[in-house]
Amino acid sequence: MTIPTHRFEALVVGGGGAGLYAALTLSREGIPTAVLSKLYPTRSHTGAAQGGIGAALGNTEEDHPEWHMYDTVKGSDYLADQDAVEILCREAIETVYELEHLGLPFNRTPEGKIDQRRFGGHTREQGKAPVRRACYAADRTGHMILQTLYQQCIRRQVRFFDEFHVLDLVLEEGSGGRRCAGVVAMDLASGELHLFHAQAVLFATGGSGRMFQVTSNAHALTGDGMAVAFRRGIPLEDMEFFQFHPTGIYKMGILLSEACRGEGGVLRNALQERFMERVAPTIKDLAPRDMVSRAIYQEIRQGRGIGGKDYVHLDLTHLGQETLEKKLPDIADFVRTYMGLDPARDLIPVQPTAHYSMGGIPTNVDGEVMQDEKDTPLPGFYAAGECACVSVHGANRLGTNSLVDILVFGRRSGMTMSRYIRHSGWPSLPSQGLDWAQALLERLRNAQGKEKAATLRRELQQEMMESCGVFRREQSLSLLLKKLEVWEGRFLEIGLQDRSRRFNTELLEAIELQNLLVLARVTVASALARTESRGAHAREDYPKRDDENWLKHTLAAGENGKVVLKYKLVVITKFQPQERKY
Ligand SMILES: Cc1cc2nc3c(=O)[nH]c(=O)nc-3n(C[C@H](O)[C@H](O)[C@H](O)COP(=O)(O)OP(=O)(O)OC[C@H]3O[C@@H](n4cnc5c(N)ncnc54)[C@H](O)[C@@H]3O)c2cc1C
Repeated sequence: MTIPTHRFEALVVGGGGAGLYAALTLSREGIPTAVLSKLYPTRSHTGAAQGGIGAALGNTEEDHPEWHMYDTVKGSDYLADQDAVEILCREAIETVYELEHLGLPFNRTPEGKIDQRRFGGHTREQGKAPVRRACYAADRTGHMILQTLYQQCIRRQVRFFDEFHVLDLVLEEGSGGRRCAGVVAMDLASGELHLFHAQAVLFATGGSGRMFQVTSNAHALTGDGMAVAFRRGIPLEDMEFFQFHPTGIYKMGILLSEACRGEGGVLRNALQERFMERVAPTIKDLAPRDMVSRAIYQEIRQGRGIGGKDYVHLDLTHLGQETLEKKLPDIADFVRTYMGLDPARDLIPVQPTAHYSMGGIPTNVDGEVMQDEKDTPLPGFYAAGECACVSVHGANRLGTNSLVDILVFGRRSGMTMSRYIRHSGWPSLPSQGLDWAQALLERLRNAQGKEKAATLRRELQQEMMESCGVFRREQSLSLLLKKLEVWEGRFLEIGLQDRSRRFNTELLEAIELQNLLVLARVTVASALARTESRGAHAREDYPKRDDENWLKHTLAAGENGKVVLKYKLVVITKFQPQERKY
């Protein structure tokens, strides 16, 4: 059977904010570029981002990129690489203005400037009062970014392969080492495999929140890009740091953006107390997410959850109808639709929800993927956005810093790729490039075992939530690691009922589950090894941060079916680690 083969100088996998900004940059540089996306691009998760994009424009009060940098480093619990954070905060400003010039309809101040609001962990003058730094388009900021970039890509004739699911990376093994030569993807509409030959490939495949039971992430966020890279010998960085956002709708996980608290909303326990006043006396409900999520669980554990249950209340009742409708319209709508409550009158039940992967495919500040702890790049392979780890978020990301990250490093990756493409020749396509993907599909399409992917996924998500969530312990992590081995064995015994080729979602879910299992194992192994508490990684058996032994990034690689952990140093330039107080 002949496999359709395509040839583009640049391939971008992922049609979210990171992928589209890279594709736009490449096309502006005159590089023929294709975007492959398993979702129709404007359905990518960037479209769900609500609250804002952080940039020290200083439009409504004094602000500086250095303050933004300080907050980001402190928020990261000093694990972020400070050279990368400096670039993030400096380039955030030109990025926001560029978005404005591309047509993004930001909210405006009365003088017509881009309006800004408060967000967690963003403070003024090194840790004092909260600062208005988040630029926003109501609570639809991500939607507007995605639409703006997609339109610009169409205008520039970027070629789109929608609903193409990438299964594998193709690597040329030469005498000078490995080099990226393309990808293998399945066209979901036909079930057919396609081979894409390229000089440079960018992964911008988003996060992996579907590892957990309660999550703000859409069904498609199964960490495919990270899992594919890991299988091809790229170590994954800092995967133990997974962010739980404090305000997911109770039991559903649907996000109620931090913008709610940025606009003045507060959290209350069963006694109606504003408990964040005790935890972070200066910035209270706008403390970073790791702290607020832990504080919610502490209230629940100490019997102050609402009605003795595992949730607290988000109180927006004092904001007034006008603010709710003007600044938080979608969120107000979610609360009415999903909870049958009126946010102007009723308290909203919330609990922490798995939200954001701080870890991912290790890259430098130009998007080049690093294949070892000595920072050796894999030529032709790039990553940006939530699937990548630059690392600008360290152990805990601040709200609004992901949208900046995907755009700043999406664009930088596009620039680096265009330079590389101009100077590198074409890699050859290895004859065995399709083998792994073909064997996988062959096996799954004929799988007749008794296990069901849906059952395995449910068990995985429940256990990850239970044992690798906001709080962790050695005993439960060790047990979970053993269970993961069992689930991987059970995965080999699954059976598929749907034998059709076209839009076979049962097959797709099995492929995604395989990726989640890989990532869960890396996450748990990395979390078990890190015997300290830092940012989003809270070990109850090691409650203190331990800079002497753990001020370093984890790199988890696969060797002979085992996860092998190595470490590399954190880049510290301006801010020495200190205790985090807010
Ligand atoms: C509800 C919610 C609200 C948020 N609000 C904010 C906010 O206000 N501010 C902020 O800074 N951050 C926010 N975030 C985080 C932020 O939105 C995301 O981290 C960011 O948008 C990720 O962008 P991305 O381009 O990396 O990936 P995504 O936008 O998730 O895009 C991933 C792309 O990869 C494609 N893909 C994945 N796997 C494959 C595969 N195997 N083959 C082919 N294509 C594939 C998908 O189709 C998709 O196009 C929010 C997140 C959520 C969930």
